[in-house]
Amino acid sequence: MTTPSWQGLMKEKYRLSLRLFLLLNALSSIYCMLNPLANKAHIIVRTPVAMIFIGSTFLLITNVKNKNLRVHINIISLIFGIFWAWNAVLAQHALQTTDLSWFMVTLLAVLFIGAIAFINNLVSFLLHCLPTTLTILFLSNWEYWVPVLFAFALPTIGIAIHQIIKQRNDRFILSLLNTLEAEKETLIDLSMIDPLTGLYNRRGFENRTENALADPSSVHTLLLLDIDHFKAYNDHYGHMMGDQALTRVSAAIRDAVRSRDIVGRYGGEEFMVLLVNTTPQQASETAERIRQRVYDLSIPHMFNESVATNVTISIGTAQVKNNDMETALSQADQALYSAKNQGRNSILSFDTWSVA
Ligand code: GH3
Ligand code: MG
Ligand code: MG
Repeated sequence: MTTPSWQGLMKEKYRLSLRLFLLLNALSSIYCMLNPLANKAHIIVRTPVAMIFIGSTFLLITNVKNKNLRVHINIISLIFGIFWAWNAVLAQHALQTTDLSWFMVTLLAVLFIGAIAFINNLVSFLLHCLPTTLTILFLSNWEYWVPVLFAFALPTIGIAIHQIIKQRNDRFILSLLNTLEAEKETLIDLSMIDPLTGLYNRRGFENRTENALADPSSVHTLLLLDIDHFKAYNDHYGHMMGDQALTRVSAAIRDAVRSRDIVGRYGGEEFMVLLVNTTPQQASETAERIRQRVYDLSIPHMFNESVATNVTISIGTAQVKNNDMETALSQADQALYSAKNQGRNSILSFDTWSVA
């Protein structure tokens, strides 16, 4: 799970909590309207309850139909809380009762709705329940303040503790998700890097070149580079020395190009470079600079038959036309093959060679 999907889950929970609140209000208001006690009273007594029913049903249907509709849960819970308090005032006047059980049933219904719907949301719970609690305390002239306050305090404490636990859990899960995402990014980066040379591997190279190729107005040149007689080097100097030579050659190639050019290890002792947005002239100058830099490393190679006594590379180049990397790669490979045949430590451009 990612942080955005976690946030989506939280929004979904918020929406469900609102729907549950509206449903419980609708059911309670139906019960109040059908209650025989209320029937004895004047129609006006049923006004707030009817408004709760109409409001909750309307919002519930709208919320189910339109998921993206933003409804502020605190405002809704306060409005409904005030309606329930208003209902308590009207009903008490109409029924002329000061019976504790009547007060408690009214209060418990409101507390029940609040506690069920807002188990983790203290503010919404208080906004919904406080109006009725205070109204009942006043209506009963504080006569039953002990049971009333007890009934109110119990869920309030429970919800406050619940909310603290939930906030801690949320913080923990969020930090865990952030760590996981950061590690995922690192792993993706690592999966694109060749561990020996620190250059892009083939996958990383393809990934990076995709962005460069996205601009159709630019002209790029692809270079394919291969160390000459490297098998002989490995055989005579050993694999460890071979690795060292590979690392030094990689660094020389990287140093010889601009930071925007993309350098990768094609595999074994072969490298590839995408010279981004270059003229053919600039490309051949850069290729020559790379060849010279590698030569100037002066890594002793006594078995570089007839070429030199140090490590050298051969380079095949090709222009990338119509963003077609595959064709450019095959052309650069052909040019490299010919450069090898021509004696190594040399550069051949497919574009000039194929025309000639
Ligand atoms: P050519 O001039 O025609 O390119 O000849 P070559 O010997 O360089 O070419 P070949 O493909 O025959 O040999 C490549 C050698 O590169 C084989 C292997 O010993 C060496 N090699 C490939 N990958 C690595 C590596 O990661 N580390 C080391 N030390 N050697 C490697
Ligand atoms: Mg080679
Ligand atoms: Mg090779």
